[in-house]
Amino acid sequence: MKTDVAILGAGAAGMFVALAAQARGLSVVLIDPSAHTPNNLAISGGLFPAAGSALQRSSGTQDSPEAWLDDLRQFAPGMVNENIASSVAHALPLATAFLVNDCAAPVQFLPDVVAPGHRQLRFHCVAPASGAALHTWFRQACMQQPRIRFVTDRAHVTRGAQDFQLTTAQDTYHACQIVLAGGGFGANPEMVARFIPGMAGALHNGSSTQDGSTMALGMAWGAQLWGMDGYQGQGHTHPGGATRLGMSIPPLGGILVNRQGLRFVAEDIGPSALAPQVLAQDNGLALEVFDAAIEAQLGNHGAYQQAVQAGRVMTADSVASLAEEAGVDPAALTRTLTQVSALAQGQANDPLGRRSFARVLRPPFKASWVTGALSHTQGGLLTQADGAVLDPQGNTIPGVFAAGGCAAGLSGRGADGYLPGNGLAQAFGLGWRVAQALG
Ligand SMILES: Cc1cc2nc3c(=O)[nH]c(=O)nc-3n(C[C@H](O)[C@H](O)[C@H](O)COP(=O)(O)OP(=O)(O)OC[C@H]3O[C@@H](n4cnc5c(N)ncnc54)[C@H](O)[C@@H]3O)c2cc1C
Repeated sequence: MKTDVAILGAGAAGMFVALAAQARGLSVVLIDPSAHTPNNLAISGGLFPAAGSALQRSSGTQDSPEAWLDDLRQFAPGMVNENIASSVAHALPLATAFLVNDCAAPVQFLPDVVAPGHRQLRFHCVAPASGAALHTWFRQACMQQPRIRFVTDRAHVTRGAQDFQLTTAQDTYHACQIVLAGGGFGANPEMVARFIPGMAGALHNGSSTQDGSTMALGMAWGAQLWGMDGYQGQGHTHPGGATRLGMSIPPLGGILVNRQGLRFVAEDIGPSALAPQVLAQDNGLALEVFDAAIEAQLGNHGAYQQAVQAGRVMTADSVASLAEEAGVDPAALTRTLTQVSALAQGQANDPLGRRSFARVLRPPFKASWVTGALSHTQGGLLTQADGAVLDPQGNTIPGVFAAGGCAAGLSGRGADGYLPGNGLAQAFGLGWRVAQALG
């Protein structure tokens, strides 16, 4: 069967490209052998930045793609993938408008989601934010489009002189263009050990589908790789990885202490950079301490609400009872909270370099033990601004496109370069560019 475009991977990038490509009249075969296993989109917080979107503008927020780029470059100096950064930044308002206006997606601007590294409120999702809900909407939208054929078999892919041949148990598809959208390699221990040795064996709280298989296809076809040591860490993950607190507690005023009751990091460095810092504490654990006033601001944070439902958040009326419940030295915790209170009132500079504490923490206190995890990898196939995959000489590989975790991300190098929202920003923004470039 002939089709205009074959897409490998029905996650954030693959489903977005499928919807945007079919809207241009193209026929699409969308192949995903693990369609019934939660992918990274389904596991994610679902939060994506779209600086300058019409939704954001109508809330009265002043922002622009340039302002987001500026934040990205300040957050990850010298580590930004300039091949795609500007293209993605300017695509995001268009991609958001496409979802809302052309596809009737229930996407909203979320005026209460603060994120480290972002000087503006610019996150979008369904409300309350949930990657699972966004995934369900995408899946149904793809299923309803007659020009999208959704195939849940594994495909054997070969690249011929004229086209790509994708053989499944049911059918064989021929396409002149292929989009590699199978995600990253976080669930592939050999690749993690090779490219991110510092996280070899670490908890992976992303999807088991991230085996690097579509990246391997691009590599076999001569693609260049970029930023392979980059990853999104998650320093607010619960042991076991099933739930997490989300990224917003530190910017709202929360702190982290170790088993000895001592702070060890400027907590608002971002959830990704936080992961290795938490892992460096005793047993790789830290107690995230905040209060009921902060919790009241997390109503739109799906990840936090799930953690509460899972019984992961403790409540205490005093520092002494918090220390007892958490098993932390009470005298040290009292000293730490007294110091933090002084810092929050501007009475001293933080020796750990944190600039803002947002509020003085008051009872009732909330707390939760967290660890550091590898959420998803950022390195991948280097593309140009429209998602066409490049070889080491900088030439495009004819007919081969990539987006999402399979493609090189927006910024790299360890955990530090990941600005919150970069994952879906790239999946949707680069996905939009790919869909416009397909013929
Ligand atoms: C815990 C966690 C929280 C996150 N929170 C956020 C957030 O709030 N905001 C944000 O921007 N990003 C977040 N991310 C990152 C975000 O989820 C990813 O960047 C995004 O899902 C990448 O899209 P993708 O399409 O590449 O991957 P996925 O959404 O995982 O989709 C890839 C699909 O490809 C399929 N596949 C794999 N191999 C093959 C193959 N060989 N053939 C066919 N199909 C294949 C898989 O089954 C899967 O369905 C989070 C990630 C995690 C793990």
